[in-house]
Amino acid sequence: MNILPAVSFDADLIRRYDRPGPRYTSYPTAVQFRPDFGADDYLAAVEASREAGAQPLSLYVHIPFCTSPCFYCACSRIITRSREKAERYLERLKREIEMQGALFGGGRTVEQLHFGGGTPTFLDADQLGGLMEHLARHFPLTNAPDREYSIEIDPRSVETDAPARLAAMGFNRMSLGVQDFDPEVQRAVNRVQPVTQTLRLIESARSAGFGSISLDLIYGLPLQTPERFARTLDTVIAACPDRLSVYAYAHMPHLFKPQKRIRAEDLPGPETRLALLALTIEKLTSAGYVYIGMDHFALPQDELVRAQREGTLQRNFQGYSTRAYCDLVGLGVTSIGRIGDVYAQNCKKLEDYYAAVDAGRLPIQRGIALDFDDRVRRAVIQELMCHAVVDRDAIGTRFGIDFDDYFRTELERLRSLESDGLVEIGERQIAITAAGRLLMRNVAMVFDAYLPPPTAQVHSRAI
Ligand code: SF4
Repeated sequence: MNILPAVSFDADLIRRYDRPGPRYTSYPTAVQFRPDFGADDYLAAVEASREAGAQPLSLYVHIPFCTSPCFYCACSRIITRSREKAERYLERLKREIEMQGALFGGGRTVEQLHFGGGTPTFLDADQLGGLMEHLARHFPLTNAPDREYSIEIDPRSVETDAPARLAAMGFNRMSLGVQDFDPEVQRAVNRVQPVTQTLRLIESARSAGFGSISLDLIYGLPLQTPERFARTLDTVIAACPDRLSVYAYAHMPHLFKPQKRIRAEDLPGPETRLALLALTIEKLTSAGYVYIGMDHFALPQDELVRAQREGTLQRNFQGYSTRAYCDLVGLGVTSIGRIGDVYAQNCKKLEDYYAAVDAGRLPIQRGIALDFDDRVRRAVIQELMCHAVVDRDAIGTRFGIDFDDYFRTELERLRSLESDGLVEIGERQIAITAAGRLLMRNVAMVFDAYLPPPTAQVHSRAI
């Protein structure tokens, strides 16, 4: 049983360590994926996975369309109102599902399924229903009560009766984008979404039997103040979602064009951002939410909390997740899959994705097959990000290495983090402290063999 220290907020430490870094939804991160990785490498990974015992599957389905741009958005998405565009996309997506389904055979139950985007509910009920039926024809979907079939919902894009229809298709979890309930903040980011619309949807999802509801918030948005965000947090807490993700807004207009429409002078300064983070932690933990790590909170009875205690939590492209043993198949433009020790990403441009599928090829654009060093480091980084502790002996035994010898340089570098109070280096374990939990990626970065020079900002900041 892994009992983590409760998170504590240390403003001075955060100020000192607030620097750009990866979120480690994978290791190596997507920046390291290689363009010379292709369909043959992917097929070899599928074959190796079959030989290793063909574990159950997790599917990720990407729907890239949105009807209007939220200015803070850093996702890969296509703004359109054209239903024909969606039809053209669905045609190709279904063909890719056929190709991938044929590779995995019929015996591998889909225990997890996630529809993300963009806005999956850009598709209407008939389109979504047709897509689910197609998936069921090519992969063994299940109706077992413990399945995790989730869909991201933009409350502005659906009617209140949508959850009942989605439940009938097999979905039993949803995550709703909220960001902030304050009307002025909503206008400043071009996402006007009345509170009542979101609350009615949550109620309707509960009546339809959705077992898990997750909400996304963002702090650091234009015009946000602690007073305004406190009202949003109070409203969210009263709605009692099972999980909450509270992301830090990363203003990088040089990388994400829509962010250019956010007025820099409207953004909260560093001290206000810190106050917003402190407020979030204080309010959510007082309301009984458990801090999982990296922006994620969950109610104590949630599977994420259980998995963290039992040491089975994993980090993947959706954030934190259970069932690390599943292979993850990515479907749709830009989606990323993980088969055994291989990551593979589909084409990022729609025209490239269409051209590959039309030619009967898997639309894989890049990826990486992990070598030994990647696998050791991934295990260490996963443990730090998921369980806030690394058992040096366990890693040593698992990989046949002398941990202290293998990570001599890293252990030396960790000493300064130890004297700053982020980690404790014991005989057997490296443990992130209560104050270090908000800076866990800074600890993980010590073990990252690929980090670019600190001057090149390709990642968001820690806070
Ligand atoms: S935040 Fe979500 S709904 Fe808004 S543009 Fe980005 S992907 Fe679309």
